[in-house]
Amino acid sequence: MERDRSNPDYEVVVVGGGPAGLTTAIYTTRLGHETAVFEKEGGRHAAVDHVHNLLGVSENVSGQELAAHAVDQLEHYGGDFYLDAVESVSRFEDDSGPRFRLEASHATVDADRVVFATGFRDRSPEVADLERFTGRGLHYCLHCDAYTLGDGSVFVLGHTESAAHVAMTMCNFTDDVDLLLDGREPEWGDETAELLEAHPVDRIETTVVSAYEDSAADSSERPWLGGLSFGDGTERDYLGGFAMYGTAYNADLAAELGCDLTDDGAIDVDERRETSVDGAYAVGDVTHGQNQTTIAIGDGAYAGLVVHKDLRRFPLSLEECRDEEDATHNDAPGASATLRAQMRRVRTLETHPGLRDPSPGR
Ligand SMILES: Cc1cc2nc3c(=O)[nH]c(=O)nc-3n(C[C@H](O)[C@H](O)[C@H](O)COP(=O)(O)OP(=O)(O)OC[C@H]3O[C@@H](n4cnc5c(N)ncnc54)[C@H](O)[C@@H]3O)c2cc1C
Repeated sequence: MERDRSNPDYEVVVVGGGPAGLTTAIYTTRLGHETAVFEKEGGRHAAVDHVHNLLGVSENVSGQELAAHAVDQLEHYGGDFYLDAVESVSRFEDDSGPRFRLEASHATVDADRVVFATGFRDRSPEVADLERFTGRGLHYCLHCDAYTLGDGSVFVLGHTESAAHVAMTMCNFTDDVDLLLDGREPEWGDETAELLEAHPVDRIETTVVSAYEDSAADSSERPWLGGLSFGDGTERDYLGGFAMYGTAYNADLAAELGCDLTDDGAIDVDERRETSVDGAYAVGDVTHGQNQTTIAIGDGAYAGLVVHKDLRRFPLSLEECRDEEDATHNDAPGASATLRAQMRRVRTLETHPGLRDPSPGR
């Protein structure tokens, strides 16, 4: 059955336009399914000034630039992108069976499958003036930014097991690590306390009052952190550090739909990235993982393939081939006319969206 493009009715709707959601949508679109992405602006990718560890992509590229290229790619293949926050996702029944209705601030659409790619929020430290140095001295991701701070003077802000663990791990990169408790009682156990004693980590108990910028840095760029001022009146220069106050998963929509969450609030998925609600999937940081762009992309691709296998009509089973009553089974092809027209158009084009400059070294 052909779908009417004037009707906001999709086979796949993805909530969240970060690396995970955009990759799922690119896959499902290129695999012939009418797909839309809803993005409300923000997210962890938008806080990435310089993307690291991404194969073949320069550090000069930001998370927002990467996403902008991906949106171009999605639209080029025939997918739709709505800059609109989804406010609710519910189940309803129509002729084709159980489906999803997504209500956003400016649009309502229906979908056969829904994919949550809504990410999480890093809990910020409560230190005056520190947040403005996000990505420039205030970091949240050791895998991404330990290298950036290598051999410098580094802080880890926090009082939990994971803060202690990150402080000890930073000893792989520098011999100058302070663990800043900011006036709080440590929550780690005896074994961690003993381990910390054995590592070259300075423990600073006093409160952290405010942050100041590096006055020697290039003034044409967004300022880099210079250091921190403490409640006891001292100051200490830092190249940068990590805030370890945990995460808040953007899982409310999925929870309201009835999807199970894990104990710490992530969306629970099986190995196919499907949630406990049939036809609803979740990918990227909003599920458990290593919280990396590359892993979010891989996760998104994996889910795109799974959703395609769930939705595709061909190959038919022998039983379906023999079912003469349902002749529509023999009508090929499965993809909508609009998408097939786009497939024909794209293959005649010589240039395509996305990062494409050759390496200057070759
Ligand atoms: C400062 C910083 C630097 C980082 N640096 C790196 C790095 O160098 N290399 C690396 O590999 N990783 C890095 N990361 C981690 C990386 O950014 C994340 O792992 C990645 O962005 C996860 O992708 P995602 O698509 O799952 O989630 P996100 O990127 O968080 O995207 C989720 C999207 O969902 C949207 N959304 C949420 N709710 C709704 C709703 N109701 N309706 C519509 N849209 C919604 C949000 O607006 C957001 O755009 C960094 C993270 C941070 C915070």
